[in-house]
Amino acid sequence: MKTIGLIGGMSYESTIPYYKIINDEVNKALGGLHSAKVVLYSVDFDEIESRQRSNDWDECGQILKNAAISLEKAGADIILICTNTMHKVFQDVQAGVKVPVLHIAKATASKLIESNVKKVALLGTIYTMTQDFYKSVLIESGLEVVIPDDIQMQEINRIIFEELCKGKIVESSREYFLKVIDSLKAKGAQAVILGCTEIGLLVTDDKSALKVFDTTVIHAKAAVEAALKD
Ligand code: GLU
Repeated sequence: MKTIGLIGGMSYESTIPYYKIINDEVNKALGGLHSAKVVLYSVDFDEIESRQRSNDWDECGQILKNAAISLEKAGADIILICTNTMHKVFQDVQAGVKVPVLHIAKATASKLIESNVKKVALLGTIYTMTQDFYKSVLIESGLEVVIPDDIQMQEINRIIFEELCKGKIVESSREYFLKVIDSLKAKGAQAVILGCTEIGLLVTDDKSALKVFDTTVIHAKAAVEAALKD
């Protein structure tokens, strides 16, 4: 079994499900008392989030690249950046290490294509929804992407940073997300990407008008699949 390196802490609320899913999946595959080989480098999210707001992505890239180098030195064979937003600096991180960094949007796009989805709604931080670094990966895979309107995007972003990243689950926010999903279905979306690793803490498949593709689950499972391949 290969060792999975996690760059986590963005936020730590979403690193917890990563750790749990990865271990559950390894145990499901191997049985008994088997668990995953994991190395975690958890950053101080304030150092990242403040640089996102001041548009200092190069510095963010440097921090995450150094985290990846530490993980590789600690024995990681595969690395995950446990946030969608920070895939903006994916190239910097991958350039720092020899081991593969598994791209969250690529893993998600292949699941969508497998499910025959053509037009997909994307929910995430304002950076993920409005900038090209993430959507371009989906579009290159052949998907058409729909995003919420400006007011909805501002509110989604607020809920992510003010509530979900702090572990607050607010019922009215859940209803808000579900309404946004309804409106994206009306725009022709056939499924919705939970393109922020905390959204799965709030929105589940059974409540959503569209089939949910939770990037945390997809990314964590892709890592296990790679770790168990010889
Ligand atoms: N975890 C979030 C994501 O998947 C947001 C936190 C961040 O800005 O990195 O995008």
